[in-house]
Amino acid sequence: MIIKRILLYFLLITFFQSYPQLNQQSKKITKKFFSDLNELEDVTPALMKKKGFTNYSELIEFIEEKTNTYPDFISYKYIGSSQKGKKIPIIYVNKKNNLNNNKVRVWMQGGLHGNEPASTESLLYMLHMLMENDDFKYLLDKIELAILPMANIDGFLKNDRYAANGLDLNRDHTKLMAPETKASKKEFANFDPHVALDFHEYRPFRKDFAQLSTFGISNPYDVMFLHTGNLNVPENIRNIIDTLFVKNASKELDKLGLMNRHYMKSEKYKGEIHFSTGSNTARSSSNFITPAIY
Ligand SMILES: [Zn+2]
Repeated sequence: MIIKRILLYFLLITFFQSYPQLNQQSKKITKKFFSDLNELEDVTPALMKKKGFTNYSELIEFIEEKTNTYPDFISYKYIGSSQKGKKIPIIYVNKKNNLNNNKVRVWMQGGLHGNEPASTESLLYMLHMLMENDDFKYLLDKIELAILPMANIDGFLKNDRYAANGLDLNRDHTKLMAPETKASKKEFANFDPHVALDFHEYRPFRKDFAQLSTFGISNPYDVMFLHTGNLNVPENIRNIIDTLFVKNASKELDKLGLMNRHYMKSEKYKGEIHFSTGSNTARSSSNFITPAIY
């Protein structure tokens, strides 16, 4: 039987925010848009300390601790090294002794842009919740996860968007010029996911918005989806992502009262402010898509 397996590759832009000391936004923005931040539990290294984001040694300690605590669920390995020589960890979540041989394989990565730390923190938070919260236990019978929590370690540790050689790793999915991209691509191919999610972070208050009115305009969405839109991706795959994945994910977010919509960005063009839905570069992860037929 031929099973068409499709890799859904899209970016999930999240406004996940944590305690004020972690926040890159102003206190005013935090208060206005993230008033529920106190509901977060102190479970990631960054949430447990007073200042700064999760650093490299804390990341490794966190992964080791989770692996030791939940050996029947979690394992990890290193897939290569960053340009500055930091080993790149990847975490696998796969419930052992499980009868389901048809689990959906999901790839999740964060920190590809090093100045978007909420992406990494939210993955660590999610890993903790997946193990600790009974509401999510059923998922472990249905899915298998590969989590690349800090895809651009050198950039992340400097709170810098780019890798050590100045490359934007989210524009390196065609040429594979950086060792980080090569390592993640190789592991991606080995894991062979059905669904891939790349987490990023988006500022709700952008400088372009301030010029749109006298009171300023900000973007209140909790989650934005930047899924593949490039015409180099076959139409049926783009349609499936739209109708099967994004639509259903959006419905679930609605139920939770989380505002969501398709991604948009603003930029100044010949003196005017233009909004676009983004996702037009073939080199970004949202458009690097590999349909495979078995
Ligand atoms: Zn980003």
